[in-house]
Amino acid sequence: MPDAHADSWIRDAASQFGDRYGILTFAGENVRRRLSPSALERLERTTTRREPLDPRIADEIATAMKDWAIENGCTHYCHWFQPLTGSTAEKHDSFLSIDSNGQPITEFSGNQLIQAEPDASSFPSGGIRDTWEARGYTAWDPTSPAFIVRNGGERTLCIPTCFVSWTGESLDQKTPLLRSDEAISKQAMRVLRLFGNSDGVDHVTTTLGIEQEYFLIDEDLAAMRADIILCGRTIMGADSPKGHQLDDHYFGAIPRDVQAYMADVEARLFELGIPAKTRHNEVAPRQFELAPLFERSNLASDHQMLTMSVLQKVARLHGLRCLIHEKPFKGINGTGKHNNWAISTDTGHNLLSPGKAGQSNLQFLTFVCAVVRALDLHADILRASVANAGNDHRLGANEAPPAILSIYTGEELGRVLENLATGETSDFRADSSMDLGTAAVPKLQRHSGDRNRTSPFAFIGNRFEFRAVGGTASVAWPNAVLNTIITESIDWIVTEMEKHIDGNGSVEAAAIDILGGVMRDHHRVIFNGDNYNTEWHEEAARRGLPILRGTADALPALRNDSVREMFNTYGVMSPTEVDARVDVLFETYVHTMGIEARTMLQMAETMVLPAATRYQTDLATAISTTEAAGVNCPASGGRLHDLVEHVTELEAALTEIRTTLEYTGESCDAHARAVQDRLVPAMDNARAHCDAIESTVPADLWPMPTYTDLLFGGE
Ligand code: ADP
Ligand code: MG
Repeated sequence: MPDAHADSWIRDAASQFGDRYGILTFAGENVRRRLSPSALERLERTTTRREPLDPRIADEIATAMKDWAIENGCTHYCHWFQPLTGSTAEKHDSFLSIDSNGQPITEFSGNQLIQAEPDASSFPSGGIRDTWEARGYTAWDPTSPAFIVRNGGERTLCIPTCFVSWTGESLDQKTPLLRSDEAISKQAMRVLRLFGNSDGVDHVTTTLGIEQEYFLIDEDLAAMRADIILCGRTIMGADSPKGHQLDDHYFGAIPRDVQAYMADVEARLFELGIPAKTRHNEVAPRQFELAPLFERSNLASDHQMLTMSVLQKVARLHGLRCLIHEKPFKGINGTGKHNNWAISTDTGHNLLSPGKAGQSNLQFLTFVCAVVRALDLHADILRASVANAGNDHRLGANEAPPAILSIYTGEELGRVLENLATGETSDFRADSSMDLGTAAVPKLQRHSGDRNRTSPFAFIGNRFEFRAVGGTASVAWPNAVLNTIITESIDWIVTEMEKHIDGNGSVEAAAIDILGGVMRDHHRVIFNGDNYNTEWHEEAARRGLPILRGTADALPALRNDSVREMFNTYGVMSPTEVDARVDVLFETYVHTMGIEARTMLQMAETMVLPAATRYQTDLATAISTTEAAGVNCPASGGRLHDLVEHVTELEAALTEIRTTLEYTGESCDAHARAVQDRLVPAMDNARAHCDAIESTVPADLWPMPTYTDLLFGGE
């Protein structure tokens, strides 16, 4: 008997999803039904073949989009974009207009669809613009479908757009990602042509499947902590006696309240055309994960921004708070994104899928070698692309990859690459079967290579998984950087191969020679061992791999002239755009840490110190009355002594925080340096004393929910 519930759920999901797109998405059937055949054909040429949009069809599309949106309850539309704040932005306009007879009408023109002019002055521009120079433009991205966002009973049509300043520089996350995807396509097409595999392929695109981790905690408890409200994380808190020592949460039964929440999240994601696929408990208590099916990178990146927003909004409806911060709790696992990355032809062939025979795999190996070369040459800027205040707490701690970028190839690919370095091609071993030794259990298929969870950049069969991206980050920026460095390496490799072939050589001979050279020159970036092990850090230093622990260490790599030049050469970002972005990243780091520091001052002064003083008074009274009664109480004396010492040192650390906060620095780079070198240690020091005080103050005097309350209270 088919399960009626499951059956109807799948049908519901499938119908909402229709055509791979959600019911609240202007795509698939929603578009086909409303456009004339010729407009549809021209729009599809833009969305599938990246041809420039024919402006003559803009009015027709705009009217169809407006009618669809109004039928679905929208009164307003907005150009939805991703400024450098790291979140999304929207400025709503109603469809209301007045016609020449003074009558109210609904209106949405092609021009309004294609372009809008939000005031850019209050968005970060990294000095490209003075605040009095306000003009900025948003430009419709027809390759990412418009969608309807529900907010309570209100519905708004959102049109994905690029955001640029009046001077033409991009001020957003989307534009460089789109440009980098085109850049890699150009170079990858050269590889396909060289190997004779370009027939019928119009372009190549990167694909992304982003696994998002998150914590869910009780909203009422979260509301009692200023650090969670303002910073999205706890900036103090003594360890709970239980963490994830027992590994009893990972893949455990999903708690009932969470299951209901997940189902609600998925329903909303389906409406938006976001293909949510996998859900499970993560390692840390109250930590979970959601993974969608992979999509073209631009779409996946837009969908990722929406996913973060849906996760957070829906939590509130369930009396929960969703934390996606990189390190919400000290001492247990943090939150990252596993950025699954591959390159595929527009006809759907994954270029990172190895075949079996060595010789025919040379095209695949060309792409792999480009990745190896790119990571070795540019590990520092890829590291910089995931640098933020939150990731500084996460990378290198509790099951997060270290701040050293290396590649895990696995045994099988590793062997093939090693052989290549000696000038040989080799076949891939087929997957084998595995007998579990009990008759009734079917044999398992064993993959030819194992996995490595500790690597920041792992090859897993048909894609690379970049695991250093932070939980709150937009994936657009790290992927724009990743695409650019790989583009540069593909360009270099193909150019070398073309030179080799020029002397009448064969493609195979050229590939083996050039790729072998790449492997000999760049194998140091491959590491198949345990990345969490401290010995690896020493080994990495010996190999000369960059070890860039904090944001202030990592970002300066993006200031190098050669790096600015590379972004420029491939049309991803002009030097001005790179400079502006780096300024914004430095400033964001400084502001984020400033907010955290001020929150810490406030919590320490208004909560921790008063609780400590109360306990101090209680202890002092207890000691004097006990001793007056003729009984010695050295243990209480010891406690009082320790408490006073922690209070004294906490006061000193708070003074250091206040002093450091007054420093402004000559440049944002210098300011960030001071934050990392002085403010962060002072905060760590203050936290240690707050946590020590928390561990001794009576529970009924402690004024905020503890780690035990937050992580286990709801279970
Ligand atoms: P795991 O946690 O075991 O790594 P998941 O199933 O949670 O695996 O996530 C794997 C992610 O990789 C999914 O989002 C999936 O769609 C994505 N993925 C699979 N193939 C590709 C590909 N060719 N390009 C990009 N992402 C891919
Ligand atoms: Mg994964």
